[in-house]
Amino acid sequence: MQEYRNFYIGGQWVAPRAGTDHHVINPSTEEPCAVISLGGQADTDAAVAAAKAALPAWMNTSPADRIAILERICTEYVKRHEDLAQATSMEMGAPIDMARQQQVTSGDWHFEGFIKAAKSFEFERVMDGEDNDVLRYEPIGVVAMITPWNWPQNQIALKLGAAIASGCTMILKPSEESPINAMIFAEVMEAAGVPAGVFNLINGDGVGVGTQLTAHRDVDMVSFTGSSRAGTLISKNAADTLKRVHLELGGKGANIIFADADDKAVKRGVLSVMNNSGQSCNAPTRMLVERARYDAAVQEAAQVATSIVSVGPSDQEGRHIGPVVNQTQYEKIQAMIQTGIDEGARLVAGGTGRPDGLNQGFFVKPTVFADVRNDMAIAQQEIFGPVLSILPFDTEEDAVHMANDTVYGLTNYVQTSDVEKLRRVARQMRSGMVQANGASRAQTAPFGGMKQSGNGREGGKTGIEEFCELKVMSGWNG
Ligand code: NAD
Repeated sequence: MQEYRNFYIGGQWVAPRAGTDHHVINPSTEEPCAVISLGGQADTDAAVAAAKAALPAWMNTSPADRIAILERICTEYVKRHEDLAQATSMEMGAPIDMARQQQVTSGDWHFEGFIKAAKSFEFERVMDGEDNDVLRYEPIGVVAMITPWNWPQNQIALKLGAAIASGCTMILKPSEESPINAMIFAEVMEAAGVPAGVFNLINGDGVGVGTQLTAHRDVDMVSFTGSSRAGTLISKNAADTLKRVHLELGGKGANIIFADADDKAVKRGVLSVMNNSGQSCNAPTRMLVERARYDAAVQEAAQVATSIVSVGPSDQEGRHIGPVVNQTQYEKIQAMIQTGIDEGARLVAGGTGRPDGLNQGFFVKPTVFADVRNDMAIAQQEIFGPVLSILPFDTEEDAVHMANDTVYGLTNYVQTSDVEKLRRVARQMRSGMVQANGASRAQTAPFGGMKQSGNGREGGKTGIEEFCELKVMSGWNG
């Protein structure tokens, strides 16, 4: 078993000051695959001190210098693709091909997006129609970046790229479920020549390092992606120091399929839910189908879940889905499937228990429920597993109402060949993102949600702004 006990602080790999051992579990085998340290207050203080010390010089670098560093980071990151894929596959269970093709490449995609955005970002500009007033975007300062395990490179790159582009210094605390790939980011920073102290990494859990960073008086902002539960705790713990809290939380995306949608709409929706074993905050987990197409959609969804989606270990090549991340998630998903059955939803694919032939590992059957009502727990709560709920609707107004009738508001989806209807519905969605007819978001499009899905946006220019303070300088012309 490999050991990764050190932290990256002030440009050095250092032994923990207050660490305790933690085993990382391979979810395909349920066996420990690596040992890391969970840091304590002394480690948190050291990492924050390093970030604070590096800030004055770093925040005064030119945007062009920081863009050049981002370009080097991107180059070095691409060189480590295979290492990142292997680590991700081992520690969070993404099948190796999926890790290579989707997980890892999301990192350079976002770095490229930040490079593009930073090149045209006006860090200083004269106000529209007010030529004696100049607006200046300045880095907010020391940022704590707390990330989850489900799309690790995606979430780290979205924060790291914004911090570098804006001139912030940072402390990354990755999920204790997926720390090894994050440690490769530190090696990438070193190889790219990022000045010492600009990027720091400490491992730890939420109760320890996560809470210490959140409450720290020398941390100016917490950028967090993860559960709404932790988002609430972070908001409370950050309140005493009034730091900025940026949250990307859960979702319960509605996928509205009108009768005039294209032929692939149902299949696309099911595959999108199952991808990454259902562990995506923007998964379209509530499929709302217009009554005229409902029975056919249920039949097709069940068929896709049982005969197209297959399940297998993460080190096996192929297009299957892997296990879910850990025992807790496995048990939570099993309980939610049972809840769906108990609530009276009609199980048309999957169900409780492991798929045939997989007796060890946190494997879940691709599961589809039909005749779900929007007030059922399986329609309201984020399950974070390969579980789809299908609900019928009669009118456009019903569909809009049901889609918005949730505490979440991350991504909703619309499938129709009627462009006017599509735009009408998209405008009424209370969510940060709406995607129509299988369209993906642009590289620099802002990612984030409304309501309990969070309060910020990541990626591109908006992502850079989120890591900045805005200053106005009046009397500019002397
Ligand atoms: P989590 O929120 O517990 O953990 C995410 C990160 O936050 C980890 O780094 C963790 O150590 C840290 N953390 C946890 N509690 C903290 C606290 N009090 N203060 C500071 N940091 C804290 O998420 P999880 O347990 O890994 O996953 C459980 C649920 O989270 C899932 O079922 C899903 O609903 C949600 N989730 C959402 C996303 C998303 O992208 N929106 C990603 C992962 C998980």
